[in-house]
Amino acid sequence: MKRSFHLTTLFNIPVEINYTWFIILGLVVYSLARGYFPYTDPDLDQFSHWLMAVISALLLFASLLAHEFSHSLVAMHNKLSIKGITLFVFGGVAHMENEPQSPGIEFKMAAAGPAMSFFLALVFFALSLACYNLGLPHFALSITQYLMILNIAVGLFNLIPGFPLDGGRILRAALWHYLRDIRKATAIASGFGKGFAFFLMGFGLFNLLSGALIAGIWLIFIGFFVMEAADASYRQLVMKRFISGTKIGDYITKDVIVIPAEMRIGRMIDEYFLRYRHHSFPVVRDDQILGILTLHDIKLVPRDNWLETTARDIMKPLRQDMVIGPQADAMEALAKLAANQVGRLLVIERDKLLGIISHKDIMRLFEIRSEIEG
Ligand SMILES: [Zn+2]
Repeated sequence: MKRSFHLTTLFNIPVEINYTWFIILGLVVYSLARGYFPYTDPDLDQFSHWLMAVISALLLFASLLAHEFSHSLVAMHNKLSIKGITLFVFGGVAHMENEPQSPGIEFKMAAAGPAMSFFLALVFFALSLACYNLGLPHFALSITQYLMILNIAVGLFNLIPGFPLDGGRILRAALWHYLRDIRKATAIASGFGKGFAFFLMGFGLFNLLSGALIAGIWLIFIGFFVMEAADASYRQLVMKRFISGTKIGDYITKDVIVIPAEMRIGRMIDEYFLRYRHHSFPVVRDDQILGILTLHDIKLVPRDNWLETTARDIMKPLRQDMVIGPQADAMEALAKLAANQVGRLLVIERDKLLGIISHKDIMRLFEIRSEIEG
């Protein structure tokens, strides 16, 4: 999922921005410039409203960044490494390499974000008081008040007790502390997350039906997002428990059928795809692996060209995210599989193809493990 670009690096943490963030930025600026500021400062002209909107959106952006950094800095203080921060639609995510080791640390980490948002709200409140008392122009008061309200809203939204929101993490920390079982705690906390997601979607639908189109779409959108995140983070935890530490070497398919690089599509269909019924094959020449050819690649070639097109012309050339060593961990394989869009990894040791492993293989391993060990 490469939908982000690198913005900067602060405190040794790379900060990335997801492209979806610009949708929000645009919406925020537009609604401030055309709705909110014309209402608070009707005497100013349109240009001033747009300028105020841009300044406010940038300060909001800085506030969200501060929220994420306070999570990350507390994490780093507790020896958890943070791979990076990505800002996207509803704020941000700090990517932790590992889950916190104890409920106490998880609590501190989760609480740090909303604490920062409320602190910033206080700062903007103080600034707005200062603007008022010093008799500064009214627009300064409008901007600082807006940021105070938004930081309170960000703090409150994140405190909603549904995992993976901060409030859900706080809830999970408490449950983990009392139940002494992180899986059960995560299951309950993400259950709350899903409940909250349903509530948002239901409320969104209600808004939609009663004519509040934008608000309705927004709520449903946020609901979907929370639902997805709650599901994904629970799945990841359970997966981790059953398959991390498993070397993939024992679970690969050996005796891989390969396609010669110069073979034409016409022959390939009968002799390989139909005969072995696989969706993809490694492409080789002189024992050297050149890439992976999938059925999808073939479908992109017009039928008239099938006689002159070779495997090599249309295969996906070998990349780092298509290969893995036999000693690799199943979780690592899963991460690579999710990224490479081939659904398969070539298992290679010292330039020799040992076998192939697919997403399905790992999921089956997971299913059987979880059946046996409960
Ligand atoms: Zn947060």
